[in-house]
Amino acid sequence: MQKDQSFTRRRLLLSGAAALGAAGTAGAVLAVGGEETAGTAAAPAGGPQARQALRPSAFRLQPLTGYGPPPAAPRRLKVRTEPILHVSGRGRNMVLTFDDGPHPEYTPHILDTLAKYDVRAMFFVCGECVVENRELLARMAEEGHVVGNHTWTHPLLTTLSRGAVRSEMESTSDAIEDAYGRPPEWFRAPYGAWNRAAFQLGAEMGMEPMGWTVDTTDWEEPGTSTIVDRVESGAAPGVVVLSHDAGGDRSQTVRAIREWLPHLIDSGYHLTVPRRRL
Ligand code: ZN
Repeated sequence: MQKDQSFTRRRLLLSGAAALGAAGTAGAVLAVGGEETAGTAAAPAGGPQARQALRPSAFRLQPLTGYGPPPAAPRRLKVRTEPILHVSGRGRNMVLTFDDGPHPEYTPHILDTLAKYDVRAMFFVCGECVVENRELLARMAEEGHVVGNHTWTHPLLTTLSRGAVRSEMESTSDAIEDAYGRPPEWFRAPYGAWNRAAFQLGAEMGMEPMGWTVDTTDWEEPGTSTIVDRVESGAAPGVVVLSHDAGGDRSQTVRAIREWLPHLIDSGYHLTVPRRRL
């Protein structure tokens, strides 16, 4: 038994080292299962055999050699052809998203309202605004909000070369990582104008494309009550709401959320942020 345990420990160490390699995660998970088998008192006869069966070490030890796929090798990459437009409605979930910021005047008010009701939201930020308002990204991280990439200058991506799209996206992810503390896991194309390059590059950079279900069209400045009506009439389980915290005078947006957010909560909605499905 003692011998088995030390053997298992050594296996775990090996797996831990493998996890440092490119493909070690699966190996690490298998190793935890192996430990449970070995830890059972009076190990069943099948135990050692089971470990033996897991042993085909060509698979498990391969990462120890340090040979990962070369950077240019094609990877199994899930590339979507359309953005995510809604989330699971279980638990009457809805997602609030704010685009084009952060803005030093409007974003803090929106963050204050979200904090008042203990609600987390998504902010799709532009790199050129991030570098001017780094403290707002730090506040978003501190308060549990999710920050997504909305490009550097908010161009129409469908008019740009692939290289220009890449530059817009990469520079913004770098700025977010610097100010927010983590690289973004979500991307939203300006104007909702997606193209193949945006989906492909987003996937390569580890980001999921997020669209929306309900557009408040607050950028038209239609009046606070109109914005409130649009959110409340569009509310439904799984809905993703689009608002803007920059790009113009957003005082109507700021006032509207103070009305519609408590109304949604009173109606039983759970305002949340989505989890990544990797
Ligand atoms: Zn935008």
